[in-house]
Amino acid sequence: MKKIGVVLTSLLLVAGLVTGCGSTAPTTTPAPTSGSGTEQSADVKAIKDRGVLKVGVKVDVPKFGYKDPKTGKIEGFEIDLANVIAKKIGIEKVEPAAVTAKTRGPLLDSGDVDLVIATFTVTEDRKKSYNFSDAYFTDGVRLLVKKSAGFTSLKDLNGKKIGVAQSATSKKAIEEQAAKVGAKVSFLEFATYPEIKAALDSGRVDCFSVDGSILFGYLDDSTVILADSFSPQDYGVASKLGKDGLAKLVNVTIAELKKSGELDKMIQKWGLK
Ligand code: GLU
Repeated sequence: MKKIGVVLTSLLLVAGLVTGCGSTAPTTTPAPTSGSGTEQSADVKAIKDRGVLKVGVKVDVPKFGYKDPKTGKIEGFEIDLANVIAKKIGIEKVEPAAVTAKTRGPLLDSGDVDLVIATFTVTEDRKKSYNFSDAYFTDGVRLLVKKSAGFTSLKDLNGKKIGVAQSATSKKAIEEQAAKVGAKVSFLEFATYPEIKAALDSGRVDCFSVDGSILFGYLDDSTVILADSFSPQDYGVASKLGKDGLAKLVNVTIAELKKSGELDKMIQKWGLK
C-alpha cells in the first residue's frame, strides 16, 4: 500500500513538472495578450510592498494632468494611464506629484517619483538619462498668439520674441522650423506655463509656444493657435535608468493597451482625438 502511495505521489509530481505545475498560471484571468515581462522584478516588488506608485504628473495641462481648482482633484488621460500601470503592479493607489518640464527629471533622479507621466517627449538625448516607454501619444509643437497681432504663420513671427518653457523641447524645435521657413526669432524662457501666458498678455513676448495639447489649456478669447504644427513630440513614460523591471512592466502595459484598443478609448474619453 505504502509503495503504491509513493509511486502515485511521484507520478503526480512528474505530471506536475511536465505541465509546469500550474500553480502560477492564472485560472480566472485570460492569458496576457502580449508576451511576459510582468513577473515581478525586485524594483517592481519594492513598489508593490510600499503599496503606492509615486508618479510625477502635470497639474496645469487640461485633459492630460490637471488639478481642478474646485475639487482639488488631479485628473486627465495621463492620470488614467498611471492608474492602469499601478493596477498592473498589483496596487490601487497612485500618489501624484506636480511636475514641470524643469522639475520632472530631477524628481526622478532623487527617487521622489517612480515614474513621470507628464507630456514628456522622448528624445535621444533624454534617453541617455532615463528609461522611456514606447510612445502613448504624439503631438506637434504649436504657436499661440494674440488675435490682435494678425500673425498667420511662423513666417510672420520674423524678428519677434517667443516665450518657451525652460528644459522643454520647444526652443530647439522652433529654431529648426524657423530656419526652414526663413524666419529669425528670439526667445524668452520661463519656468512655468502660466508665466508665459502672462508674458503674452502683457506683450513681453509675441508668441507662446509649446506642444499643442498644452497650449489648448491657455487658449482664450483674445488668442489663437496658428495652423503650423511641427516637430512631432512622442510622449513616453519615464523611469530611472537601472529600474529595468519597472520600465519593462510599463512598456508591456502600454503595448497591451494599444493592442486591445483601450488606449484609443482613453484618448477619446478625454477628447484628445
Ligand atoms: N513635451 C515637451 C517636452 O517634453 C514640452 C514641454 C513639456 O512637456 O512641458 O519638452
